[in-house]
Amino acid sequence: MAATTRRGLMLVMSSPSGAGKSTLSRKLLAADDGISLSVSATTRPARPGEVDGRDYFFVSADEFARMVEAGEFLEHATVFGNRYGTPRGPVEAALQAGRDVLFDIDWQGTQQIAETMADDLVRVFILPPRIDELERRLRERAQDSAEVVARRMDGAMEEISHWAEYDYVLVNDALEACYDRLCQVLNAERWRRRRQPWLSAFVTKLREEGAARAQS
Ligand code: 5GP
Repeated sequence: MAATTRRGLMLVMSSPSGAGKSTLSRKLLAADDGISLSVSATTRPARPGEVDGRDYFFVSADEFARMVEAGEFLEHATVFGNRYGTPRGPVEAALQAGRDVLFDIDWQGTQQIAETMADDLVRVFILPPRIDELERRLRERAQDSAEVVARRMDGAMEEISHWAEYDYVLVNDALEACYDRLCQVLNAERWRRRRQPWLSAFVTKLREEGAARAQS
């Protein structure tokens, strides 16, 4: 087989918070060596258990503004009053090296990436099976106050309104089934023709060999 270096893809997963997106991404990252998480920068304070550089790069408002000014973000947005952005450098390096990158970003960031990197982008939206289930999951996050839960419910409704801007929509009715569907999407997308620039040289060679045989 010829050298099969392919270009990596950008797998964006968006959902209202509480739909199980984080569980799905953790599972995927643990099971698949070919994909790694894009670590965003944010001005929001770290939650208990979150690690700087692993979950987010926690930066000051001034540092975030400097990074925007310097063009260091692929996209950035304000979500629930805090700023979030995707650092550009690591993503471009991964794609070139044929590695896939997973993004946990909202609809605003997805729209911005679609404007500049549409060919590399695969957009997946995760929906909860029912709204009461989503509210229950939001309440279970002990660190969030009632006021924060209410604000996140409003945010969830806003996020859901953007579902039709995504290439794939998965309802997370059962974790394993939803995870299987996510893996199917990723694996099929990896084989897209445009992600395999080596193919045109390979096919040219096949055709030359075919023509040579026809002549002999
Ligand atoms: P949380 O504060 O709960 O970690 O994230 C809140 C929301 O911000 C989530 O919907 C998440 O997808 C979104 N988010 C996290 N990082 C980024 C980012 O770099 N860019 C954008 N646009 N949204 C982000």
